[in-house]
Amino acid sequence: MVFRQDSFLFYLHNRIKPKLISGFGIFWDRNNNPVCPKCDNILTDYIKISNDPFIRTPYFYCHKCESNIYLKDENGNTIDYKDAINKFKSG
Ligand SMILES: [Zn+2]
Repeated sequence: MVFRQDSFLFYLHNRIKPKLISGFGIFWDRNNNPVCPKCDNILTDYIKISNDPFIRTPYFYCHKCESNIYLKDENGNTIDYKDAINKFKSG
């Protein structure tokens, strides 16, 4: 019985998410926090220097699903977080 109740609450929790807005290939919450498009985890690690010499663009690293998340503009080009935030806030 307790298990079933928990499952139901978990179900509700998953259904009623804070509203996320998509932009630049990822999601954003109400406070303009970047959110992982794969697992809805708030992205906190912004990696500016990559060990890979072919990757010069900074990216977010999601610890939850262990993915590198790149921000992309409307043309599919990777862009910097600051540029994305500025564009995002300006509409
Ligand atoms: Zn993730």
